[in-house]
Order: sequence, then C-alpha cells, then structure tokens
Amino acid sequence: DFAYRIEGLTKVYGDGPAAVHALRGVDLTIPAGEIVVLLGPSGSGKSTLLNIIGGLDRGTDGKVWFGDQELSAMSDSELTRYRRDNVGFVFQFYNLMPSLTARENVELATEIAEDPMPPDEALALVGLRERIDHFPAQLSGGEQQRVAIARAVAKRPNILFCDEPTGALDSVTGRAVLKTLKDVNETLGSTVMIVTHAAATAGMAHRVIYFADGGISRIEENATRLTPD
Ligand code: ADP
Ligand code: ADP
Repeated sequence: DFAYRIEGLTKVYGDGPAAVHALRGVDLTIPAGEIVVLLGPSGSGKSTLLNIIGGLDRGTDGKVWFGDQELSAMSDSELTRYRRDNVGFVFQFYNLMPSLTARENVELATEIAEDPMPPDEALALVGLRERIDHFPAQLSGGEQQRVAIARAVAKRPNILFCDEPTGALDSVTGRAVLKTLKDVNETLGSTVMIVTHAAATAGMAHRVIYFADGGISRIEENATRLTPD
C-alpha cells in the first residue's frame, strides 16, 4: 500500500548553459499513512519534488503514480482535479485572508470540497477551539500556521504537503506546529510530507529522506522516535 511511486524523475529548469538540474533521476516509494520528512540543504530539490507530486508542477522526465493513477500522464484539468480531491498544502507563510476570522478562512477553503469537515471541527483538531472568531492579526505566528493547517485538512486530504511549515517560527512554537501535524496524521490517517532544512523535524517522522544535489542520499526509518523533540 503506497501513496506514491516515483521512477526516474528529473526536473530541468531552463535550457542551454543556464539549465538547472533540480532533480536528477529520483526513484522513490512513499508508503501511505506515514509522516515523511524530506531533509536537505537549500537548493537540493526538495520543493521541486514536493511540487511535482503535489500536482503543482510537472517533471521533465520520469513517472509518478498516485495509487494506480499516473500523475505524469494526466492532463492539466485531471491534475487540477487530483489536487482538489486529494491534496492539502501548508507553506512557510500562512497566506490567511486578513479580513476573515479563523473560521471564515477555513470555510472559504472548503467551499468546493466534496465532504468537508465543519470548520469548527478542523479548528478543534489543531487545538484552536478557543480562537475560532479571531482574526489573523489577533493570533500568534504559530496559531496562524495552525489555522492554515486546519484550512488544509478540512477537506480531508489523503496527503498533506508541508513546505518549511516551521520556517518562520521559533523552535518552541515550531514544535507545537509539528505536534499538530502528528495529530492530523494520527486522527485522519493522512500521509504527511514535510520539506525542511531543519534537522530537528526528523525526530517525528516515520521516514526521513535525505536529499542532496537533486537526488536521495539516504533513507532512514524511525520505528521508535515518534515524538517531535
Ligand atoms: P530546495 O527545496 O531543496 O531548497 P528547490 O527544489 O527549491 O530546492 O530548488 C532546486 C534547484 O532548482 C535550485 O538550484 C533552485 O535554484 C532551482 N529552482 C527552483 N525553482 C526554480 C524555478 N522556478 N526556475 C529556475 N530554477 C529553479
Ligand atoms: P521555496 O521553495 O523557494 O521556499 P515556496 O516554498 O515559497 O518556495 O514555494 C514553493 C512552491 O509552492 C512555489 O513553486 C510556489 O509557486 C508554490 N506556492 C507557494 N505558496 C503557494 C500557495 N499559497 N498556493 C499555491 N502554491 C504556492
């Protein structure tokens, strides 16, 4: 049972002498239901991989399967449907609507979802039951990121992609956000993929994929260390 199977994935930005080889033939299987951390230095290709399997971008060559669906063979509209039906995104910056409350921010994101969670339930899941009617400016950075997580999980995504989710937070607040992602994984069973250059994040992962220079240098399975610390 796997979430993704990736074969020979390459990504080249630009062409000629200025071409950047961001992914150099990546082979990878990502099991369903895990917390997977992609760890590596800036520029090693982590976000590029996340964007391709999240359906935001396409590879230059190679194949990507989500279950029995081949993402790399999909049309643009099929890829849009794949994203809408299966995927949630969390980014470093929360991108909440400043004029909307926490509840309204979550509500807005679930308008086109098929069987969304009620906004209050999603906000309770991330520990913000008491902050439902607050506006973003009334919330701390960590709380705003948890609203962004609630917004992403309210449509019950099969997979949650997080690109540097703690990048703008201090380490204590960052740990609370990672704990929230762990709760999401345990409660909803969503596969959670986190891209980061912060090694501390690896402690909560079932699987850590080390990235270097457009490829995987090592994969580590964590059977025991399942607390963010
Ligand atoms: P990471 O997420 O590990 O920091 P990225 O996937 O963002 O790495 O980037 C991998 C490489 O691809 C880097 O050299 C980066 O500069 C380059 N790159 C990323 N996005 C683009 C783009 N849109 N156009 C050109 N080069 C890009
Ligand atoms: P970087 O890899 O340089 O850290 P980001 O993490 O900000 O860049 O963004 C990674 C990718 O995700 C970019 O290709 C960007 O277009 C896309 N992206 C960023 N924010 C959003 C968003 N709110 N919605 C959709 N796509 C986004």
